[in-house]
Parts: sequence; C-alpha cells; structure tokens
Amino acid sequence: SGRLAGKRCFVTAAGQGIGRAAALAMAAEGATVVATDLDAHKVGELGARGITHFPLNVLDDAAVEEAAKQAGPIDILFNCAGYVHQNTILSCTDEEWSFGFALNVRAMWKVARAFLPGMLERKRGSIVNMSSACSSVKGAPNRFLYGTTKAAVIGLTKSIATEYVSQGIRCNCLCPGTVDTPSLHDRISANAAAAGSVEAARAAFVARQLMGRLATAEEMAALVVYLASDESAFVTGQSIVIDGGWTL
Ligand code: NAD
Repeated sequence: SGRLAGKRCFVTAAGQGIGRAAALAMAAEGATVVATDLDAHKVGELGARGITHFPLNVLDDAAVEEAAKQAGPIDILFNCAGYVHQNTILSCTDEEWSFGFALNVRAMWKVARAFLPGMLERKRGSIVNMSSACSSVKGAPNRFLYGTTKAAVIGLTKSIATEYVSQGIRCNCLCPGTVDTPSLHDRISANAAAAGSVEAARAAFVARQLMGRLATAEEMAALVVYLASDESAFVTGQSIVIDGGWTL
C-alpha cells in the first residue's frame, strides 16, 4: 500500500538534502526507489533503508545511459541534481557558466532523455525537475548564473510537458525558497564574512521567507511525492512555488 505503491522511481543527487528526503519519502509511500548521487558513500547510506543505490555523475553522458539501463523502466524521475553558484553578471566566469549550465540544465536533459523512451513505451511517467523560486519567477542578489539556469529548467519542463501531454507523460518542476540542506550551510559559511558573522548570514537567508524560517527537505519531498503520484494526474507543465512566502 502507499500513495506510490507499485511505482518505480529514479532520483539524482539523492545523497543529501532534498534528493535524499525525496528518495526516503517515495520509499515510505511504497515506491521502489533507485537512488543515485555523485557521492557513492552518501547515497550508499540509503542501502540501510532498503533503497537500491549506485553512484552516478549526471555530467557523464555514458554513465547516464548506463544508469537508465541498469535501473530499467521507471514511472517517476526526480531530476534533483544542481549547484547554487553565488555570482553576479560581472563576477561569473566562463568556467562557472559552462559548469552551471552543464549540471543544472544539460544533465537534466540527458537524464530525462535516457528514461523517456521507456516511459513512452509504457505510456506513463512523471518527471519532476528541480528549479527554484530564484529563476524566471524571481530574481535574487548574487544569483546571476543560478537564476539563469533555473529559469531554463522551467522552459525545459514546459517543453517536455507539451511534447508528451497526450502520451501519458507529465513533467513539472519545484520552485523552492530557501531549504535547510547541507549545501545551504556551505553558502551561509561563504557569506559569513560579508554579513559580519555566521549568525547574520543565516538570519539573512531566514528573512527571505516571510514565514520567518527555512523550509525542511521533508517539506520539499512532500511536493515531490504529490507530483510523482496519480493524485496530480491532471497537473503538467507547472512550476510550483513552495517558498514560505518569499515571492509574496
Ligand atoms: P545539496 O546541494 O546539499 O546536495 C547536492 C547533492 O548533489 C550532493 O549529494 C552532491 O553529491 C550531489 N551532486 C553534485 N554534483 C553531482 C553530479 N554531477 N551528479 C550527481 N550528483 C551530484 O542538496 P539541496 O540543497 O537539497 O539541493 C538539491 C537541488 O535543489 C539542487 O538542484 C538545488 O539547486 C535545488 N534547490 C535547493 C534549494 C536550497 O535552498 N537548498 C532551494 C531551491 C532549489
């Protein structure tokens, strides 16, 4: 039983943060989950929770193809991998630009492309992509490359949704506000000097959400479960803002 009983899910970047929480939440709802991450050790910890796992660098096209073969047909793809560059149009380097688009956008294309034929064959599938409120929804300071790539994710999502809307495939994306995850702690540390202290840097992130707190990864996972499940059968092509009031 469970809201995802009988469904097979594939998750990228499931080693920590939102990807990990989503893998656990989908498994708790009865799905068979294949969890992957660049970091074999981190994703390996999900083995103790009964989740199939293997390392996958989504930047490696051949490895992505191989992973799709290894995983077999799936019903749900959660494209979670992404990196938050902190830069402006003036400070962004060519290397950052290439890496940001390769990880946040191109890899999403390649992973979805690897699994789509199987979904089309079976005429069902839900693809859930990770965008951000910082995208075409909203600008944020020092997020030039990040906001640009996450806006592209919304376009990619709508394009896939449109193409396959009559063939049983849905595609949606999450647009979160600030979520308490390991990489947020890195960004807080990186901003500590400019903000005056770690506490001040953290407070600035908290203050963005009118609710006065950060989101939990579990709150994001709950939306992933909804978009993955048949409860959202009439929802496609949407970029769903889940931001504690950041965009209000
Ligand atoms: P995180 O940044 O703490 O962890 C990211 C995970 O991705 C790590 O386990 C890492 O090993 C893995 N990873 C990195 N490069 C990879 C690669 N090439 N191939 C496969 N895996 C790779 O996790 P998070 O903060 O939950 O972020 C996950 C996603 O959510 C990202 O796309 C991020 O942009 C998005 N997001 C996060 C927030 C937030 O506030 N944390 C807000 C909006 C959107």
